[in-house]
Amino acid sequence: MNFSKTYFRAVLIALTFFVFGGAVFGQQEFTYLVNFSPPRPANPGRLSVWIVAKETIKDDAVFVIPRAIPSGYGIQRYDRFLEVAAASSPGGGTIAVTKLEDGPRWSIAKSKQGVEGIFYYVDLNQLESEVLSAADQSKSRPDYAGLLGYSVFGYFDGYQDYPVRLRVNGPSDWPIFTTLAPRVPAELDKTEVEAKNYFELADSQIAMGPGLKLMKLATKPPSYIALYSETKTDLDKHAQVFERAFRKVVDYFGDAPFDSYTAHIEILKPKSELHSYGFSMEHSKSGTFYLGLDRAYTEETPEAEFVRDELNFIHHIAHSWIPKKVYGKGYLPFTWELPPLIDTVWFNEGFARFAMIEIRADSMPADEGKAWRERYLASLKEFVESQPAFIRDMSLQELSRIGSVMYSEDFRTGRTLFSKGALMADEIDRLIRERTNGKKRLRDSLRAMVKWGVENKRPFALEELPGLIAKPVGVKESEVREVMERWLAPGPGR
Ligand SMILES: [Zn+2]
Repeated sequence: MNFSKTYFRAVLIALTFFVFGGAVFGQQEFTYLVNFSPPRPANPGRLSVWIVAKETIKDDAVFVIPRAIPSGYGIQRYDRFLEVAAASSPGGGTIAVTKLEDGPRWSIAKSKQGVEGIFYYVDLNQLESEVLSAADQSKSRPDYAGLLGYSVFGYFDGYQDYPVRLRVNGPSDWPIFTTLAPRVPAELDKTEVEAKNYFELADSQIAMGPGLKLMKLATKPPSYIALYSETKTDLDKHAQVFERAFRKVVDYFGDAPFDSYTAHIEILKPKSELHSYGFSMEHSKSGTFYLGLDRAYTEETPEAEFVRDELNFIHHIAHSWIPKKVYGKGYLPFTWELPPLIDTVWFNEGFARFAMIEIRADSMPADEGKAWRERYLASLKEFVESQPAFIRDMSLQELSRIGSVMYSEDFRTGRTLFSKGALMADEIDRLIRERTNGKKRLRDSLRAMVKWGVENKRPFALEELPGLIAKPVGVKESEVREVMERWLAPGPGR
């Protein structure tokens, strides 16, 4: 990419005025200025980001872009797609920036005036070509852009907890939607929103362009559909399937730990044979469902596909409670440069899957629901039994650590984790129902645990988990512990 220093200086001076017009100096805060110009024939299009600190950074400054995603359980080298142009000091001066070897870090030379910001480009086309899972990509089209926060936004090391202001500029007349503060209709040309900190920004998505279809649903809390499709599909039907799922999940947990929720759906032509379009991803107040053309809805779409999609929605919406609000050590605070080793991926994925099974079964006529639930659990058991012994018999904590870096890369690890976790949850659920004569169930523990998570804002230690499950439903902690320890120990489980 060619880059003109004069142009950069002019942009800096113009933007300095734009950012600080009327700003009150005081607490540190970061403004992220995002400019997107779409690809055109003979022009690849580009995304530029300028991050500006309200108070100049006087110390050695290091800029970081993520290589790990919360719940991604793998590595994504987003630093490969960034071209850092320069850092700036107040008044439009530029400071040299050096990419450090090996890690996703850039060191900014010390400057007398301090560091005011950093300016970089993201090559979205290269990102989409090289990141093979659609779930982890941002996209750029002549009529659309879909941006995953963590794939395009970095931070100054040590400053992740400060508030963020996000300003997005798009082409003229383009609607710009962000999951941080969803609005329908979306604002045109530009939008400005706030995030509590870098995590919230990175965990959010931006979707924009005339190709974007938006819908607000009258749920509580309000939910939104942001859909982009590269083939004909039925927006109303997607909304209907999502809404059904959303209402059921909120009912199950009794309360929502967010003020709005967005289902960001993309239906995409495959970029190559190597690209995969099967995984969806949860975020604190949104879910990204980046799917292949086969997931479009036509008049011929059979009911079974709506059911499959509803389950997929339920599963990922449920993650906004588990693990986003209640989680074990390693999940949060998040380490953005390397996927954290987590001992409790079986909880994150297995207990959320158990919730999904219950939510779906609860919504069916009782007999049918019971039979479906049993069939589903039996299929999980069968899967575990079919695994090579070294995976099947590994202790869940050990498998969890492996799964936290290669969950989908070797999906045997991922599937064994969520299968054993869900079977453990089911056994605990049966214990609770039995001891309380059917008055309580694991759902009641989960509700209390989410409240505990929201209040305490810290991970639970594994030793605490039996108590957190048992106490709210008045069951003996030792009995829950016995079930848990049996499933955690090396061996096939149970
Ligand atoms: Zn999941």
